[in-house]
Amino acid sequence: MKRKRGRLGLASIAVVLAAALLLIFYTKDTGKLGDMINGWLPSGQTEAGHAGEAGQGGGNSTVQPGAPSAQPDSSAIPEPAGDSGTGLSPSDGDQPVSSDSGQGAEPTSKPSSGAGQAGGSENGMAVIAQPESIAALVNKQNKLPEDYNPNDLVYPDVRFIFTEKVDKRKLRKEAAEALEQLFAGAEQDDIYLAGVSAYRSHSTQKALFERYVKRDGLEKARTYSAYPGTSEHETGLAIDVAGSDGKCAAADCFGGTKEAKWLAGHAFEYGFIIRYPKGKEDITGYQYEPWHLRYVGADIAKDIQESGDTLEEYFDAVQVTG
Ligand SMILES: [Zn+2]
Repeated sequence: MKRKRGRLGLASIAVVLAAALLLIFYTKDTGKLGDMINGWLPSGQTEAGHAGEAGQGGGNSTVQPGAPSAQPDSSAIPEPAGDSGTGLSPSDGDQPVSSDSGQGAEPTSKPSSGAGQAGGSENGMAVIAQPESIAALVNKQNKLPEDYNPNDLVYPDVRFIFTEKVDKRKLRKEAAEALEQLFAGAEQDDIYLAGVSAYRSHSTQKALFERYVKRDGLEKARTYSAYPGTSEHETGLAIDVAGSDGKCAAADCFGGTKEAKWLAGHAFEYGFIIRYPKGKEDITGYQYEPWHLRYVGADIAKDIQESGDTLEEYFDAVQVTG
């Protein structure tokens, strides 16, 4: 009797062990199971990977002039070039440079970054408490609430590199008006700009990201596409801009063009900043994107222009001194 029980006990332990080993193996092997489970927790999102642009495509059926690197299967999603992220091109936000921009802190002062304890956190990311703030800090550590959709989106009256009247033309009202002035100001200097991609809805970003995950697996998708809720384009305050010929739209070669130079020198006058500057990759988590403009309002834009700081640094500084 005793022996029998002993054997039975051993047998069940063996079975349990075998099952555990199998699970560990499988998880390791695919490298995905764990991630998948993580990634698709209730919240739907885990990490940053603000790969903003990644999503660009957002159901746009336009062929972008000069769109650089095509996606592996470009037929699926014609995206505005790099920004949309092939993983090869920098694309805003599409390419996480490092996973930690070292910025867990929530700026709490004056111009609110929108971040805040009140928003709670999800999988290690803070959920932005005031997503509607013009100064909202959206990045790999701070995500928009799942249900946030800007409610004052309009179509800015400016040139785009496509003609369809679709979501990605939209910006929030204040940013749209500022953009119109920016384009007009540029023209006075003989600089002719065109929008490439502005607003992208949360559901679009989510659908795109899920499609990428399906195609390439979570780990790879993460390298070029933004987690839903972490793309600045979801705020309606960001826009990718190119020259009116559409060449180098959201691609590295845009850097150094006269349009890029003009933007670097003048965008702040209209309340926009070059959100992912050169040399700040470790802080923003993104490679240099001379085409990605973010509206923050004239005051913050001016401070940032003068200090050379990023939005991240700006809020940290405010927090420290304020
Ligand atoms: Zn962008």
